[in-house]
Amino acid sequence: MIYNQYGKTGARVSAVGFGGMRFDTSIPNEGNAELLPYAFSKGINYFDTAPGYCDDKSEDIFGIALKQMANIRDEFYVTSKGMPADFDTADKARKAVEKSLKRLNVDKLDFYHVWCIRDIEQYHLAMKKGGQYEGLVKCRDEGLIDNIVVSTHLPGDKVSVLLEKSDFEGVLLGVNILNFLYRWEGVQAACDAGLGVVAMNPLSGGIIPKHEEKLAFLAGASETPTEAALRFNISCPQITVTLLGITTTGHIDTACRIADNCRPFTQADIDRVKANVSENMDSICTGCGYCTPHCDQHIPVADYMQCYNEKLLAGKTDKEMLEVMTFNHEWGLLADAEATAKECTQCGKCQEACTQHLNITERLEHLAKWEKTAGIG
Ligand code: SF4
Ligand code: SF4
Repeated sequence: MIYNQYGKTGARVSAVGFGGMRFDTSIPNEGNAELLPYAFSKGINYFDTAPGYCDDKSEDIFGIALKQMANIRDEFYVTSKGMPADFDTADKARKAVEKSLKRLNVDKLDFYHVWCIRDIEQYHLAMKKGGQYEGLVKCRDEGLIDNIVVSTHLPGDKVSVLLEKSDFEGVLLGVNILNFLYRWEGVQAACDAGLGVVAMNPLSGGIIPKHEEKLAFLAGASETPTEAALRFNISCPQITVTLLGITTTGHIDTACRIADNCRPFTQADIDRVKANVSENMDSICTGCGYCTPHCDQHIPVADYMQCYNEKLLAGKTDKEMLEVMTFNHEWGLLADAEATAKECTQCGKCQEACTQHLNITERLEHLAKWEKTAGIG
């Protein structure tokens, strides 16, 4: 395992971080909890979760594991998060921290994220007088939090706005081998400011493992595109921790093996990727799911956007997209859809929430046409 200094905090963190957003929720929490000590035994010492992850089970799963790991508490780091809109006063922010501490069975969070800044207004909301940040500073003064950090989905060139006043010790952002051309400015700005840089979505929300054939150009000799994507993030000197959403011990083994034998990307590797990554790659839906709850029409927006990925990634024709839509309505992502694409009122709320800034309404229009032609809805 490679270990890196997290900015100026003095924390020495593993280059692979345990992401608590991909547990298999069909199994009991106790079974999932076994993954944390296993990851620690392999060298991972950075454990990231948040309220709401995995049907809101993730913090409870962590709590079971961290209770068992209490005797080694000073050997690993735990994070959680709170959104400025949900905790818009100092008092609410403190209550959120206390709740996370209780669920996680720890006395202190090593890192706490002002979570999911998608536009600058949310940053200002967090920083307003008597707001979330003020509450978090108080928590830090009282020893409930060690470090206040920020998670953002802002485009690369806007991240520097969050860094201007040195409010945060580190930044969590979505950067990977497919989108780095568009996100790098943010990574470099955080790095230049001496902050920790934690990268989420290293596999682009599962797109890379799912489309390995199409993305074969990512891989160097003797590796799969998925392994190459992990190697890209893990070996990158500007990235402090690569957060991988963990479902199985196999995920831990793969990521740790890559970190153990880490070969940095050469300029030739990077040139090959750059030459192949089309602009479309930055317009891929990562499946983060932030859009769907905003739809009053109950359209499963994220699932629809995953279907649209097939058009972008596999270059499917209109005729082939009819098959994609039919399959997904019968057996796949849209089998339980409460509403179809044609019911979109174009209100734009999902777009405002989209972490990738995708033009969702335009895509839904295409999807609605394919559904109509296929006789769906
Ligand atoms: S634009 Fe359409 S899909 Fe998006 S939230 Fe509004 S109604 Fe729902
Ligand atoms: S459309 Fe945007 S917000 Fe919704 S799942 Fe995809 S990337 Fe995430």
